[in-house]
Amino acid sequence: AKDPVRVLVTGAAGQIGYALVPMIARGVMLGADQPVILHMLDIPPAAEALNGVKMELVDAAFPLLKGVVATTDAVEACTGVNVAVMVGGFPRKEGMERKDVMSKNVSIYKSQASALEKHAAPNCKVLVVANPANTNALILKEFAPSIPEKNITCLTRLDHNRALGQISERLSVQVSDVKNVIIWGNHSSSQYPDVNHATVATPAGDKPVRELVADDAWLNSEFISTVQQRGAAIIKARKLSSALSAASSACDHIRDWVLGTPEGTFVSMGVYSDGSYNVPAGLIYSFPVTCKNGEWSIVQGLPIDEFSRKKLDLTAEELSEEKALAYSCLT
Ligand code: NDP
Repeated sequence: AKDPVRVLVTGAAGQIGYALVPMIARGVMLGADQPVILHMLDIPPAAEALNGVKMELVDAAFPLLKGVVATTDAVEACTGVNVAVMVGGFPRKEGMERKDVMSKNVSIYKSQASALEKHAAPNCKVLVVANPANTNALILKEFAPSIPEKNITCLTRLDHNRALGQISERLSVQVSDVKNVIIWGNHSSSQYPDVNHATVATPAGDKPVRELVADDAWLNSEFISTVQQRGAAIIKARKLSSALSAASSACDHIRDWVLGTPEGTFVSMGVYSDGSYNVPAGLIYSFPVTCKNGEWSIVQGLPIDEFSRKKLDLTAEELSEEKALAYSCLT
């Protein structure tokens, strides 16, 4: 039998956490034959709720779940973890300035970075979900210099999956037959959902999405804004933000990273930019990637048209501004 993998979930008593931990315990994230030990962290006001989640995990009697740590102590939570999913963060409340939210999150991610750096297992893989996800990941990277930068990522897989879902609905095809959409840039409304390299599997082979949709006006405007605004649409409908889809896509992100992407398929991940596609180096930016042997690499050489170029640059500019704002919060 395999040794258990220790998976940290921060903000585990929250909405996404509640949807995510049973998925991990069922093997959705790391495979149906991979035992796991869950480490759940939350803040003291959520300690009782967190303990309730732990009780439910016990009651669910998951065969793969070999242990549960539920704590408000970051050091205890981070000790020995192989995978860290950072869902905890300070939400933007009405009337709060961007800078105030940023400053709260900068201090959270700075201290959690230190706890991970000192106590996580070597080669721990980190996924940041909490917003502003890209910039929180960047702060984490800055304050955990001994964690390889390749191990620090943020979630744009939900946006990626939303794009697949929109194409599948529009063409009335199975979502599993659609692939290679790309989310470029920030996990915010400036992100660019790009279908220029996306295909649909048909009995006659893979066909370009653009050719099948045959409506550039829709693809260049409504499709993009629907994906960008989907989070807001869910909040309007549910009176709560998306949680099951966020949790599911976090599992997709880690699963593909650890177990690899299928041949010929790429996925979107927020990763540390090396300057590919003329995106400024030193930002955490969402790129198309393939994964193999536990490592991602940015898909190279995709042609970028003028329309896309502008959108890639716009979302990069927003990230550079966020980065400057975050650094101005570091005292
Ligand atoms: P959720 O579980 O709904 O969301 C958690 C984080 O994920 C938020 O930052 C949220 O951003 C972000 N997120 C990213 N992508 C998505 C998406 N597609 N849909 C929804 N959310 C997304 O929040 P809860 O308030 O239910 O839970 C947060 C937990 O974090 C609580 O248990 C709280 O106690 C804990 N917490 C921890 C802190 C710490 O570690 N110091 C500080 C504050 C809270 P957005 O806010 O933009 O929706």
